[in-house]
Amino acid sequence: MLDKAVVLKLQELVGKENVLTSKVEMLAYSYDATADMPRQMPDVVVMPTSSAMVQQVVDLARAKHLAIYPRGAGSNLSGGTIPYKKGIVLSFQRMNQILEIDPANLTATVQPGVVIAALNAAIAKHGLIYPPDPGTVATATMGGSAAENSGGLRGLKYGVTKNYIMGMEVVLANGNKVRFGGKTVKNVTAYDFSNLFVGSEGTLGITTELTCKLIPAPRFRRTMMGIFSTIEDAGNAVAGIIAAHVIPATLEIMDNMTIRTVEAFANIGLPVEAKALLLCEVDGMSQDLVDTEAEAVIEVLKKNNCEYKAANTDVERDQLWLARRNALPALASLNNTCIVEDATVPRSRITEMLLACEAIAAKYNVTIGTFGHAGDGNLHPTILYDMYDQDLTTRVHMAIDEIFSTALALGGTLSGEHGIGMAKMKYLGDELGQSGLDLMRTIKEALDPDYLLNPGKLVPLQEVLV
Ligand SMILES: Cc1cc2nc3c(=O)[nH]c(=O)nc-3n(C[C@H](O)[C@H](O)[C@H](O)COP(=O)(O)OP(=O)(O)OC[C@H]3O[C@@H](n4cnc5c(N)ncnc54)[C@H](O)[C@@H]3O)c2cc1C
Repeated sequence: MLDKAVVLKLQELVGKENVLTSKVEMLAYSYDATADMPRQMPDVVVMPTSSAMVQQVVDLARAKHLAIYPRGAGSNLSGGTIPYKKGIVLSFQRMNQILEIDPANLTATVQPGVVIAALNAAIAKHGLIYPPDPGTVATATMGGSAAENSGGLRGLKYGVTKNYIMGMEVVLANGNKVRFGGKTVKNVTAYDFSNLFVGSEGTLGITTELTCKLIPAPRFRRTMMGIFSTIEDAGNAVAGIIAAHVIPATLEIMDNMTIRTVEAFANIGLPVEAKALLLCEVDGMSQDLVDTEAEAVIEVLKKNNCEYKAANTDVERDQLWLARRNALPALASLNNTCIVEDATVPRSRITEMLLACEAIAAKYNVTIGTFGHAGDGNLHPTILYDMYDQDLTTRVHMAIDEIFSTALALGGTLSGEHGIGMAKMKYLGDELGQSGLDLMRTIKEALDPDYLLNPGKLVPLQEVLV
């Protein structure tokens, strides 16, 4: 139980209305979108409305040895916002102003609580987009997605969050505020701080402002679907599209389990016997270029033994995308627990990874539907199970261990876009080795020697290491 004097001080710093303490409210902040994680209630939730307030809260937390857990929408999938132990959840829900849209420099400057979709809605009238688009664009915040270095469907052509953050204001664990980067396209002054803080999962500093790059919205697009009777053909088609020098805006894959589940869920006429389905969208500023790329994609699909469909209107496009849009909701409806992993392999190993996921599901007798961003090699093996069934839960965890060891053996990585958080901490050494773990701790301790900021996430604590 937090000292009453600390609560009063927090109320004085940020306003009484921006401090939550009731048990019901603490319960609401004891978990996030990650399934299968232990819950932990914070002592207090604080919602600052300015960076000066953030600095004052950090100073107080340091003096009182209270951990701080930054939180946007809580939609991450790695337990990144769940308190590791008691402390302060610092919610950015009320620090949600778009500070500037600068069409001449193609930038926007925002507070961390701005929701990605709200930014895109505001810049649409200038014919601009902010491309990173995790499946949660309607809720995820700019601060949270920067801390996760979120990707999404458009990563193949447009890159991920780190490619769009040009400048930041960050409050450090010592209470200092630093600003770096900005609106200049080129900036090699000092270390590349943006690339240090983006993806640091709230463990190195607290983001209080972001300047991001915007791009002109593509004016034309064309969507194609390929229906395959073998995973190998689908994998070859992915490689073939890239080899034809087409970089699609999206290149998504769904396995047979996902196809069958979506069809049972949404009844949209998918071929339930197909082994894999590819969805490919090309886009650009010129109709001719988009048509040329679409023709090249269709040629590749034809060569790889599939039936294909191409959308000619927006209505037909929406119809093709229904399958992918329904993938996660359909799979999640199968049981009470849904773990979405993001094991990622080099694009050329995608067939092997998909086949391995099927084999792992059979080996442990667990339900796994796999879909994801084929062009990035970023798959989402999605495991559905009953968390109250102990035996099944044990087998699920063994299956997940094997998914990650397989991804690493194929030259891949533990996370393409969901981060490490608490959920994947135990595998981190398998990818980084001891010297990599030591380097993580050296950087963490240089900036946050007392492990004040989001302890227990991304950087193993001493007790976890031994
Ligand atoms: C259904 C679903 C689909 C998804 N699809 C995708 C996808 O396609 N691609 C993808 O990349 N991800 C995806 N995600 C996960 C993705 O990580 C999150 O949706 C999003 O990036 C997190 O934003 P948030 O505001 O909810 O952050 P939170 O979950 O609140 O926080 C995420 C991390 O950021 C830290 N943080 C938050 N705010 C700050 C701040 N101001 N300063 C410092 N640290 C901060 C937190 O401590 C935490 O470590 C998906 C998640 C779900 C549930």
